[in-house]
Amino acid sequence: MPRGFPRASAIISHAHSLALSAQEGIGEIGAQIGIATGPCHADCAFCAFAFSTTDADDYVMPEDVLRRYVRETTAAGDVSCISLMTINDTEIDVLLDAVRTARAAAPSDVVIAVNTGDRAPEECAELRRAGASRAYHALRLGEGAITWLEPRDRLETVRGFIGAGIEVYAGTEPVYAGVSDREIASNYLGGMQYGFRHGSSSAMVPVGGTRFSRQGVGAVSARRADQISSALLLSTFADREYGRSAITEASTAGSGRCLRSSPGARRGRRIISRRRTRRRACRAQGRGSWNRVTAGSGRRTGRYAVSAR
Ligand code: SF4
Repeated sequence: MPRGFPRASAIISHAHSLALSAQEGIGEIGAQIGIATGPCHADCAFCAFAFSTTDADDYVMPEDVLRRYVRETTAAGDVSCISLMTINDTEIDVLLDAVRTARAAAPSDVVIAVNTGDRAPEECAELRRAGASRAYHALRLGEGAITWLEPRDRLETVRGFIGAGIEVYAGTEPVYAGVSDREIASNYLGGMQYGFRHGSSSAMVPVGGTRFSRQGVGAVSARRADQISSALLLSTFADREYGRSAITEASTAGSGRCLRSSPGARRGRRIISRRRTRRRACRAQGRGSWNRVTAGSGRRTGRYAVSAR
């Protein structure tokens, strides 16, 4: 349907009414806390944390700060989910510690979710044991072409989460100018086949200095984003588990001041120091990539090594 076509407005308002009536006007409030940031070797073309975009310092949120954020966020009793977000490079130990901290600090009826990089099945199982019961993990639009991540690894991670008993929410994102309708639809509908519990769509928030901004790749209008999410919601509305969740959201990332004296911060700095060593090796090889180490049996491990791309 042409974007300016009046029926586009009808789609948006119909989807809005249906979603409101299906949920009886009640929404769910979730909070996301960025627990680890810094230059990320996935190097996604749209991301402020991409290796080719930023040389910002690495940051791992100290345990005491995370504990305080979780307590303050859940104090009023209206937040039902806390999502812990990392960059792709973040070590599993950092995430496991954060999940345990959040799980202990949050009321028992608040879901602890993770929004993190690709993980091996045994890491997914560890996250479940630590207290995570939900994950956001997307096969992003343009995955593998505008990012350095392998679509196969993304889906393997989804399978690992589901196998570990963690429900997976997915997103058709980032919707940017130039992505075809076919690509958007097949990404969203494909999520049902992969076993995602819910789908959503979100528009790209343009960030200065990214590869996309240097290449002149822009954002879609708010109206176009609304039309896309509404059409996706209507396309699967009959599926009670999956179809009622297409929403448009903006991605944000947490940041904060590192409290250098806490034990959590000291441990975080040791981990970051190991990562820096690997990154230097990566730079020395030019366009090297940082790949997961595979054990002799072919099983993927939680360790990474640098190899030329
Ligand atoms: S994987 Fe995530 S943090 Fe890393 S560059 Fe891509 S969007 Fe940014």
